[in-house]
Amino acid sequence: MQAAADIVIIGSGMGGATLAAALAPSGRRIVIVERGARLADSPAARDEAAIFARGEFRPPEVWLDGAGVAFNPGNYYYAGGNSKFYGAVLARLRAEDFSPLHHLGGSTCGWPISYGELEPWYQATEALYQVRGCLGQDPSEPAHSGSYPFPPVPDEPAIAALRRRLVALDLHPASLPLGVDLARWLGRGATPWDAFPDTCGGKMDAETVALAQALRHPNVTLLEGAKALRLRAEGSRIAAVEVQRAGQIKRLTAPLIVLAAGAVNTAALLLGSADAAHPGGLANRSDQVGRNFMNHNLSAVLAINPLRANRSVYQKTLQLNDFYLTGGAGGTPLGNIQLLGKISGGILAADTPLPRPVANWIARHSVDFLAMSEDLPNPESRVTLKAGQIVLDWRRSNWQAHLALVARLKSVLRRAGYPIVLARAFDRRTPSHQCGTARMGADRGTSVVDGFCRSHDHRNLFICDASVLPTSAAVNPALTIAALALRAADHIRQTEFAA
Ligand SMILES: Cc1cc2nc3c(=O)[nH]c(=O)nc-3n(C[C@H](O)[C@H](O)[C@H](O)COP(=O)(O)OP(=O)(O)OC[C@H]3O[C@@H](n4cnc5c(N)ncnc54)[C@H](O)[C@@H]3O)c2cc1C
Repeated sequence: MQAAADIVIIGSGMGGATLAAALAPSGRRIVIVERGARLADSPAARDEAAIFARGEFRPPEVWLDGAGVAFNPGNYYYAGGNSKFYGAVLARLRAEDFSPLHHLGGSTCGWPISYGELEPWYQATEALYQVRGCLGQDPSEPAHSGSYPFPPVPDEPAIAALRRRLVALDLHPASLPLGVDLARWLGRGATPWDAFPDTCGGKMDAETVALAQALRHPNVTLLEGAKALRLRAEGSRIAAVEVQRAGQIKRLTAPLIVLAAGAVNTAALLLGSADAAHPGGLANRSDQVGRNFMNHNLSAVLAINPLRANRSVYQKTLQLNDFYLTGGAGGTPLGNIQLLGKISGGILAADTPLPRPVANWIARHSVDFLAMSEDLPNPESRVTLKAGQIVLDWRRSNWQAHLALVARLKSVLRRAGYPIVLARAFDRRTPSHQCGTARMGADRGTSVVDGFCRSHDHRNLFICDASVLPTSAAVNPALTIAALALRAADHIRQTEFAA
């Protein structure tokens, strides 16, 4: 079967949906191929046992790690992609992240574009996603050409008190930039939003914002439950996408193809599309597809004062970047600290061997942080395929910087009045901040796409998702992915739609 469009976009997550929203007003026929379905509301959507203990929203999918051990990844397939579950932190990279940086664990390469080039697109993305934040509190904050569209989500009383304690220690706690409609989220149930599925529109995610905006245009079609199986090249162009839907295989053709399946699946699709002319996979003359996989070094850090209950419901409103750029030995970067969504006894017990009464007690008294450090690009950290199955061989890097960040956070929290501080690293196999597998660069020999996300090898192929990030920085990636997608869409308008 043959279906024609002007643009086929594979994936409706942060990159794909944002690009679709930007190109929709052009009137071009856009088909979005999305492997997942729309998330329907259900009691499970606010049931922590269903989400965290039983993993009901996770895919029934098995990947292999570098040692060949099978695991079920926390990688979500729904319209809106992983953003349906995200913590809705919509933060910019720091200006310095775009330049080469020396870290405790090695050096990073820098980006082919500067912060200044991306800044207008950050601004536009914050407007699109209705970000709530406050400028001027964060010492590492890059220059903004405008203010946030909405004021920050308010601290709950326990967090307002924590903020005061951190200020008294001469630190600079800052409001997290968030895409959350608080009243709407809490109207559906008094839970945090971090890692909970958004079935009520309370989060400004790729589906509720960008996909919804794109689909208001009659020229945009969403094919739900449609899995792209492979791309077909003819000469130097991508001629078609083979898509499986409802047991049928369709061949979709379009002059422009956008791959936005997320860093792991985008690499898997390109590698799995190898043919006689491209034995190493499509867009892969550089041999960089699948390489440089990064995922952030993350730890949950729980600060406990047995005499102080934390009655917060959502908690996630504050960050600390005092150690971001220069907190480490020799003035090296350590990373970002931000609050997690409020941990409950059920969430804690689902992820640890703690007996439930102990988990309940800890959760009642803890303030819960996320320490996030940069994972550096390494060509041996990679996605490959083994008989069609995804192999994710993540080689964690810069671990000493992460340990130093956790140590500094623990020391701060003890001084802020929390005598017990517990830390636990996130599971290696949770690829929530996956990026880097089709990196952007000026040199076609060492990168997969150019500074506008266009494949060096196939002019009619764009990659618009987390794959293109040349470095992971130590910032939640979604806003940057969306800003790059808006910038790529503008480039497509100028170069492909002219005349
Ligand atoms: C629990 C959790 C919390 C997070 N919190 C934050 C946060 O607070 N802030 C932040 O910035 N980031 C956060 N992230 C990360 C953020 O969600 C991702 O960085 C972002 O969604 C990645 O965008 P993407 O476009 O690369 O991929 P995705 O958004 O994952 O989109 C990829 C899309 O492609 C589809 N797809 C995949 N394969 C195929 C195929 N073969 N055919 C068709 N469709 C396909 C998928 O179903 C999906 O819809 C979080 C992630 C998780 C899991």
